[in-house]
Amino acid sequence: MTTDLDEFAARRNAILDAIANAARMAARSPADIALVGVSKKQPDERIDLALAAGQRVFGENRVQEAEARWTHRRAAYTDLELRLIGPLQTNKAEQAVALFDVIETLDRLKLARELRKAMDKLGRTPRLYVQVNTGEEDQKAGIAPGELGEFLQLVRTEYGFVIEGLMCIPPVEEPAGPHFAMLADLAAANDVKKLSMGMSADFETAVKFGATSVRVGSALFGERPSA
Ligand SMILES: *Cc1c(COP(=O)(O)O)cnc(C)c1O
Repeated sequence: MTTDLDEFAARRNAILDAIANAARMAARSPADIALVGVSKKQPDERIDLALAAGQRVFGENRVQEAEARWTHRRAAYTDLELRLIGPLQTNKAEQAVALFDVIETLDRLKLARELRKAMDKLGRTPRLYVQVNTGEEDQKAGIAPGELGEFLQLVRTEYGFVIEGLMCIPPVEEPAGPHFAMLADLAAANDVKKLSMGMSADFETAVKFGATSVRVGSALFGERPSA
């Protein structure tokens, strides 16, 4: 008899295999790519299946929702890594610093200032990624590619931040490859080591272009309930 856990583990293993294959095709080590399970909006049963299957790195796009989902689970799983992958309002900076191990959506100086304050106050230093708006879409968050160099220099000197990586969400209606390639080029040009890129539909492409973490939601957990 197949259990829900067997099914979840099989789906997760298939994704890990696909990541490993894409890595090998690109002459990369599979160990250099983290699978971030995007748990936003997913029901509790699926979160617990993911944990039982060994998943430890999770992405969330809302601070409050993440607090509700993870605060108590943190006590049970000391090796959890929680990543904020959605836009962060400045008035939630302190909550975000308190909860997350990685904040991937630094995208403006005002937020940098609030994060610095919160980090000093709480004595916690989450790893930071800068979100880049590779498609220069009006409705999307992120630093424009042409402004990234200056932004990085400012947050490094003004706030003493070590920027671990860059993150992008390509326009839905375009092939993702060129956006991933652009993010990789920007990282290399600006001495940034990590790349958060690729979702359910395109994580293998992202690995080919150098992703060090892929953010996979629906392909891992199943479709998000729409309510
Ligand atoms: C929801 C979300 C994902 C996961 O999307 P899927 O298509 O379900 O894999 C990845 N990244 C960000 C920023 C998201 O908001």
